[in-house]
Amino acid sequence: AKEAGRNCYMFYSKEMNEMASAQLAMENDLRNALKNDEFTLYYQPKMNRTGKVTGAEALIRWMHPQKGFISPAEFIPVAEKSDLIIEIGQWVREQVCQQLLIWKESSFPPIKVSVNVAAKEFTKHVVLQHLIDMFLKYDIDQHLLELEITEGTLMSSVDNGNMDYKVIKNMNVGLSIDDFGTGYCSLGYLKSYPIDTLKIDKSFIDNVTTNECDASITKTIIAMAHSLNMKVVAEGVETRAQHNFLLENNCDQIQGYFYNRPQEVKHFEEFVLSSSKL
Ligand code: C2E
Ligand code: CA
Ligand code: CA
Ligand code: CA
Repeated sequence: AKEAGRNCYMFYSKEMNEMASAQLAMENDLRNALKNDEFTLYYQPKMNRTGKVTGAEALIRWMHPQKGFISPAEFIPVAEKSDLIIEIGQWVREQVCQQLLIWKESSFPPIKVSVNVAAKEFTKHVVLQHLIDMFLKYDIDQHLLELEITEGTLMSSVDNGNMDYKVIKNMNVGLSIDDFGTGYCSLGYLKSYPIDTLKIDKSFIDNVTTNECDASITKTIIAMAHSLNMKVVAEGVETRAQHNFLLENNCDQIQGYFYNRPQEVKHFEEFVLSSSKL
């Protein structure tokens, strides 16, 4: 039995070594990616109730020189374990600020762009100062920038007594709760934090037209958000039936493949212009 236990332990430690070295290899690749400009930002439209693009979510894409396209679902968690997420977050916000300035100077229709912010960026207090730096560098309309954070991120900051959100709010930057309804957290925080938008998680939208429970949860989130003066975005909307259900139930914005996938800037711009003519 002792032998088996020992083998078992060795097996585990071998697996753990492999995982640790995969993490290290990817961290190394991510460092090169930052240096060699291998990231791009894609923009996915958020449509208002009349079918116009009023917002967008910026989503990072990584084209690895040998391995090809790697999904953010794969590399963002790795970046979050190291401090690389901080540099990546800064890169993303700077790209978006540059883009907002380009659009402002070319009189492109105003689009509110949201960026995803990882928990560590808040626990390390880097977001606020970075936004101050960006707004000094780029003369943009600050209300056109929005941060998407998860309930977990908000809670971990609350536990640390982080008040950065309030300052960020005073800078007119929007705050949106991503994947709303999937975190284990009390609703109490909704009243103490300056939240503008709730984003209903795709997992509720997937079966919203066939599952009573998902339909009720979705309707309840929308009603609650509105009574608290917040807007609601539905993510992962893929079908006309989901879209119609959400409009009938007063959802403010729709994001998902039903309208469009995340796209490179040029295609996103074409889409915005064609939707604004309708
Ligand atoms: P998320 O923030 O929940 O982003 C939504 C994800 O759903 C995106 O995947 C988007 O492409 C995808 N999506 C949008 N509409 C639909 C739809 O109708 N159907 C389906 N099946 N999927 C849809 P993506 O771009 O692969 O990103 C995955 C996750 O990676 C994001 O989830 C976010 O957590 C993270 N991420 C992406 N970009 C960044 C970033 O710049 N910074 C940070 N910290 N995280 C990021
Ligand atoms: Ca998001
Ligand atoms: Ca989301
Ligand atoms: Ca989600």
